[in-house]
Amino acid sequence: SRVERAPDDLFLRIVAGDVPATIVHSDDQVVAFEDIAPQAPTHVLVVPRERYENVAELAAKAPQVLARLVEVAQRIADERCGGEYRLVFNTGTAVGQSVFHVHGHVLGGRDFTWPPG
Ligand code: 5GP
Repeated sequence: SRVERAPDDLFLRIVAGDVPATIVHSDDQVVAFEDIAPQAPTHVLVVPRERYENVAELAAKAPQVLARLVEVAQRIADERCGGEYRLVFNTGTAVGQSVFHVHGHVLGGRDFTWPPG
């Protein structure tokens, strides 16, 4: 018999509810959830419901979804850290991308250094 296999995209599995996560926002286009290994008091990931590999692909193929993602990131930062935050899209393994389903890291609630290193 045919066995339904969960997608191997971790964030699709979180969006589908197959992998548990602390969801902080969900709408028809994006889902936001707490990072499992927070690097700041606020560390939320905002992802499109559909898979795009990185932010450039998202911008090219679904710019309105990228706009929603940024709007949701801002709202979370407004609620949690007075609207002061860092929004990071790692693109490529060399700079730390480990999940190839675009996600904006919303980081805030502490001081950050610049340049980031
Ligand atoms: P990247 O390194 O690709 O920019 O970010 C991937 C992020 O996903 C990391 O910050 C990592 O902690 C987070 N992450 C990895 N696996 C899980 C998971 O199973 N659940 C949640 N909530 N976050 C995860």
